[in-house]
Amino acid sequence: MIVQKAFKYRFFPTDEQAAQLANTFGCARYVYNQALELRTTAWQQEKKSIGYHTTAAKLTEWKKEPEKAFLSEVSSVVLQQSLRNLDTAFTNFFEKRANYPTFKSRRGRQSVRYATNAFTFRDGRITLAKQSGSLDIVWSRPLPDGAQLVSLTVSRDTSGRYFVSILVETVVKPFKRAKAEVGIDVGIKTLATTSQGEKLENPQPLVRREKRLKGLQRRLSRKVKGGANRKKARLKVAKLHAKISDTRRDAIQKFTTKIIRENQAIFVEGLNVAGMVQNHNLAKYIADAAFGEIFRELEYKAAWYGRTYLPLDRYFPSSKLCSSCSYLLDDLALSVREWDCPACGAHHDRDINAAINIKRAGQYLLKSTGSGARKVTPTRYERRRSA
Ligand SMILES: [Zn+2]
Repeated sequence: MIVQKAFKYRFFPTDEQAAQLANTFGCARYVYNQALELRTTAWQQEKKSIGYHTTAAKLTEWKKEPEKAFLSEVSSVVLQQSLRNLDTAFTNFFEKRANYPTFKSRRGRQSVRYATNAFTFRDGRITLAKQSGSLDIVWSRPLPDGAQLVSLTVSRDTSGRYFVSILVETVVKPFKRAKAEVGIDVGIKTLATTSQGEKLENPQPLVRREKRLKGLQRRLSRKVKGGANRKKARLKVAKLHAKISDTRRDAIQKFTTKIIRENQAIFVEGLNVAGMVQNHNLAKYIADAAFGEIFRELEYKAAWYGRTYLPLDRYFPSSKLCSSCSYLLDDLALSVREWDCPACGAHHDRDINAAINIKRAGQYLLKSTGSGARKVTPTRYERRRSA
């Protein structure tokens, strides 16, 4: 099976490269914002919808204007890509997947995409269009043998670190069939718990760092707007943020790979996020906990390696059901981590018990829908249950 995989590396630009990149980010942003304004005005004043090709033609005109000559200093492929990104943003808006596109700001993460005709890859070295030397990339892991490069995304995060994400086309071989099947429960305290009793905890250093982050943010809010100290404080917060999300992503990646390697079928419970966010104490942690990342990784890795990934109905009462005798509790407070079944006396770890129930429900569902099933919508599951 041929799949596209992204490999992200940090790199250290020379001063010259950094300046050229800053210019590229700026131009890509400028073109994006100009085209957005063009499309918005055309719609508001003439009820006319203009697409990528009109904006691309406009870009050619802009480059001929003396006051916009700076646009010629950067790769035109990158600028065209910026217009394509805008086009995608509009498509997402029209298809109700996203809000109306907004202007890009110079604050925040900057990124541009280089198609194959805007960089060279020779002897393991990457050189970007309009740059003289190759990038000093930290190859933290090798690219797969024989991988075809599809595109590069070059970015600078808010703490000033540079990354190149290399999209490659490569062949993945499915893993050998595994005997085990697993249910996974996700939660706030423990990010994920398997029916086999394994737990993915929030990485420990994060708890300490998150406390530090709170302090830093409080100090930041006291600094004078526009001052040099505020800028310094903001950079500190951004750096800590970056470290926290990197550590967590690493932990999630290792966890999901292990799950996929060891299990033939993976069952997860759809999470009722809306219900949980109403509780304000939890809201921050929900956003942080990256359940979406766990599910997303399990889903695509399952597809790559020949596994079955099956999310269940989100209203399935997995926590309140005794996995030994199927007794259903009326209520189980979030703070209760362990409990004894009043019917059969079994002692349960809250999360492992839930994961076992998820696994059973998943296996039942899989049997009744056939092994070809990868995904079952809640409504279908609901119907099956009430039948
Ligand atoms: Zn019981």
